[in-house]
Amino acid sequence: MLDVIYIDRLKSGKTHEIDQKLPAAFMEVEEAELKFECPIAVKGRAYLSGDHLVIDLEAHTKVKLPCAICNKMTVVPIKTGKATYTVAPEEIKSAAYKPDSLVREALLLEVPMLAECQGKCPERELLKPLLEKEEHDLCFPFSELKLEEES
Ligand SMILES: [Zn+2]
Repeated sequence: MLDVIYIDRLKSGKTHEIDQKLPAAFMEVEEAELKFECPIAVKGRAYLSGDHLVIDLEAHTKVKLPCAICNKMTVVPIKTGKATYTVAPEEIKSAAYKPDSLVREALLLEVPMLAECQGKCPERELLKPLLEKEEHDLCFPFSELKLEEES
């Protein structure tokens, strides 16, 4: 888990530094087609702006998911950009804030819808004629009809 941010400690204008490596289990994801097996690196800082808590965060890790072409599990690096979150005082219970779900959600948003082995699956070549036909049919569903008309 990430260190808890204690609001009282930030009141004198202090900054809470975040620089942690968390085990993959931190993500609390257990799915056959989405696996977190690498540590999660999180960096950032938290401070107060008025009565709001401001958190700058950045995180990266790797996920394993099935290749869209060959269906083998493939590893894809994911990273969140630098993001700033503002937390209203009423969302903070007993003057302590846990940034865990912020990080989890930010990383899950970065999981790609489709993955492919090393960016280009070796089996893509084998499937190429098939894929090209599919793409062609998708883009020009009436092209064959038209050809028949013309001839
Ligand atoms: Zn593949």
